[in-house]
Amino acid sequence: MAFELPKLPYGHHELEPHIDSWTMEIHHGKHHAGYTKKLNAAIAGTDLEGKDILDILKNLDVNNAGVRNNGGGFYNHSLFWSVMKPNGGGKPSGELATAIDAAYGSFDGFKEKFAAAAGTRFGSGWAWLCVHKGGKVEVCSTPNQDNPIMPGIGCGGTPILGLDVWEHAYYLNFQNKRPDYVKAFFNVINWDEVSKRYAADK
Ligand code: MN
Repeated sequence: MAFELPKLPYGHHELEPHIDSWTMEIHHGKHHAGYTKKLNAAIAGTDLEGKDILDILKNLDVNNAGVRNNGGGFYNHSLFWSVMKPNGGGKPSGELATAIDAAYGSFDGFKEKFAAAAGTRFGSGWAWLCVHKGGKVEVCSTPNQDNPIMPGIGCGGTPILGLDVWEHAYYLNFQNKRPDYVKAFFNVINWDEVSKRYAADK
């Protein structure tokens, strides 16, 4: 079965004023839809057809640009929508908070590290919070539509929080001010979902 563009778990306008409606509409309806369509085209008629996306990414041939870029684009955006919500933000609690404190001293220490990963990624890419088997968390960033699930890329482990820092994710509302967009993102993070992913993948 072909991959399908997942529905947004909220309306385009519901992340306002932090992420604007027009950006959400284009980002989901055009960019994510485009990756989905091109991923299907890239795997059609190959032995990857019918495989799970995680399986495809874990065993990726990094020289296969079509699957790398569009499989990454498909997965990364699906994760991205799920880790945001209207009236999100705040802080994680429980075992995720403990793991963040262990790695970065405090939630503010983590925020600084994550904002730096997002801010210093040259050109297009993503910032991630990943969990390793055993529960340790780590921040990293990857270029383009790469992600830490792909072999030999990024910090390894499983991404549980991701931030798209491609200009298409923020240019309409923030123009070149990526740091302001990163700040805005912290107001819409769905920490319940990130915690759920932490528990499932640790
Ligand atoms: Mn994007």
